[in-house]
Amino acid sequence: MRKPKLSRILATLAAATLAALGAVAVNPAPASAAVRNVCYNISQAGPFANTAVQAAAIWNNYTNNINMAQCGSNLRITYTYGGGSYAQRTSLGNGRVVIDYNQAQQYSALRIMTHEIGHILGLPDNYNGNCAILMSGGSAGTSCTNPYPSSAEASRVDSLFGFAARSATPAQVFTGSWPAAATVGAQRLSHGRSRDATA
Ligand SMILES: [Zn+2]
Repeated sequence: MRKPKLSRILATLAAATLAALGAVAVNPAPASAAVRNVCYNISQAGPFANTAVQAAAIWNNYTNNINMAQCGSNLRITYTYGGGSYAQRTSLGNGRVVIDYNQAQQYSALRIMTHEIGHILGLPDNYNGNCAILMSGGSAGTSCTNPYPSSAEASRVDSLFGFAARSATPAQVFTGSWPAAATVGAQRLSHGRSRDATA
């Protein structure tokens, strides 16, 4: 009984050693977080195409683990008239941003854009009225034009895009970040008439 047992132990040790060597060979740099491309598409961004490019540059400057580039359609930038800007995240780094043209006449279009992209990059809303916080959105008022994430917001995105936590960010739709413009509310109250007027 001893002999088979000893050989089993030796075999186990040998297998473990080989597995360890194999693991090192497969993962040459396990400690570093991978930079991930977030490919965005501005073909349907209309007047906000350049705003999207500026917002992508801001996120690239403020983070280490993502690289936003026009390399595909993980993220589609679109726009509409009325109803509010929003982000529709299907998974971390994937989804759609819709900019409300009317709202962007009152609030900074660039701040709206970087905020909504922030949702796609994993950030929740934080309506604390603080203009220094990007995810405070419209709660900071129309005078707030800050389009930059705070260091805490940027760090959060970097950690979400770290190699271990990517699957932890669920699909979600973020609406209501920006109070509707007064004209939009008026149109809603009598949308039948305004629809005729704008048709
Ligand atoms: Zn929001």
